[in-house]
Amino acid sequence: MRLRTLDDLDDLAGRRVFVRVDLNVPLKDGVIADDTRVRATVPTLAELLERGASLVVASHLGRPKGQVDEAARMRPVAEALAEVLGRVVEYVPTDGVLNAEVEQSCEALAFEPGRLVLLENLRFDPGEEGDDREFALRLASLADVYVDDAFGAVHRAHASVSAMPRVMLEQGRSAVAGRLLEREVAALSRLLDEPDRPYVAVLGGAKVSDKLATIGSLVERVDALLIGGAMAFTFIAADGGQVGASLVEPDRFEGVRAARARADELGVMIQLPEDVVAAPEIAAEAPHHTVPSGEVPRGEKGLDIGPRAVEEFTRTIAAARTILWNGPMGVFELEPFSAGTRGVATAIAGAPAFTVAGGGDSLAAVTKYGLGDGFDHLSTGGGASLEFLEGRSLPGIAVLEEAE
Ligand code: ADP
Ligand code: MG
Repeated sequence: MRLRTLDDLDDLAGRRVFVRVDLNVPLKDGVIADDTRVRATVPTLAELLERGASLVVASHLGRPKGQVDEAARMRPVAEALAEVLGRVVEYVPTDGVLNAEVEQSCEALAFEPGRLVLLENLRFDPGEEGDDREFALRLASLADVYVDDAFGAVHRAHASVSAMPRVMLEQGRSAVAGRLLEREVAALSRLLDEPDRPYVAVLGGAKVSDKLATIGSLVERVDALLIGGAMAFTFIAADGGQVGASLVEPDRFEGVRAARARADELGVMIQLPEDVVAAPEIAAEAPHHTVPSGEVPRGEKGLDIGPRAVEEFTRTIAAARTILWNGPMGVFELEPFSAGTRGVATAIAGAPAFTVAGGGDSLAAVTKYGLGDGFDHLSTGGGASLEFLEGRSLPGIAVLEEAE
């Protein structure tokens, strides 16, 4: 399948382009805590403006659940976007997403290339998460061309990424991927289609339940799976190890045993940490010590992988030719439990392999340790990148593809 891109669009002078972007930034008291996603929209928006289009830009923000939520209005995002683009961003806070005023303002764009209107939070309308056709038809009436650049949302069948491009195509108009989405698909496809081997996946984070489906499908694709973070303890406990008060999900014992059995059958190595850093509580000042991973004392929690584990993981990483990393190795937010994540991230960044990292917290760690340059690709979508790498068809991508 071939992904249609901005290169498939003819003359854009005087055309109104609807661009679905991912401006779902972390907000803290109304202030943007990290503007990576705002900056990531620039290449596509700037190119379209340069080519003479006027733009209707839209995103979701947070989880307002189909109604107006004052704390989730797009205003701070509109201001940040104006700043990074160096242009006026027209934003009018509305009661919902669409009304006569918004529709008129978008209609007038046809005669004014270079204007940029930012819609209110798409999730203020229940039609967005409902993948509602009526809502999609109204969105489609705002523009002549559809561009999706919201990689972080392509795994969701929501109106702005699923029903809307279908409507545009039915009406004989174009629906294509923006530059960010194009780059994500190109980089992640390299992991999906005949990756250079050995292919090593490094998984961590808090919950095994979040990533069990990913583990199940990665076992079919990789040569080694390195497991750190809290999720390692569900594996260790399922094997009879003593994990103390570490985060464990006993209802996933069956699932992790099945993944292990399948890995054995395929000759895939599942590597667990040999040692861990344990403490009685998740606090920077808590007394901590390194113990064998299956011998965490009663009442203590494993909060990071230990130095031996870092060494062993590093050996596997150094021999890999393709590496996927998703999920921190420990509670890296607290200094005493950060060495595992830092050590493994440093090893991946320095490896000769093709390296990809994804996941909000994992990227925060990459940034914190200044390792960004060591990665071939930093994926802007956590959930979307994992679903893509499982080989699933994602609604927001499938609609932009055509047979070659
Ligand atoms: P990502 O956002 O990269 O996908 P996750 O959201 O799955 O990662 O997990 C990140 C969180 O997991 C971090 O907040 C980290 O503190 C937590 N975590 C990692 N290891 C442990 C552990 N051993 N015990 C408790 N929490 C952990
Ligand atoms: Mg996270």
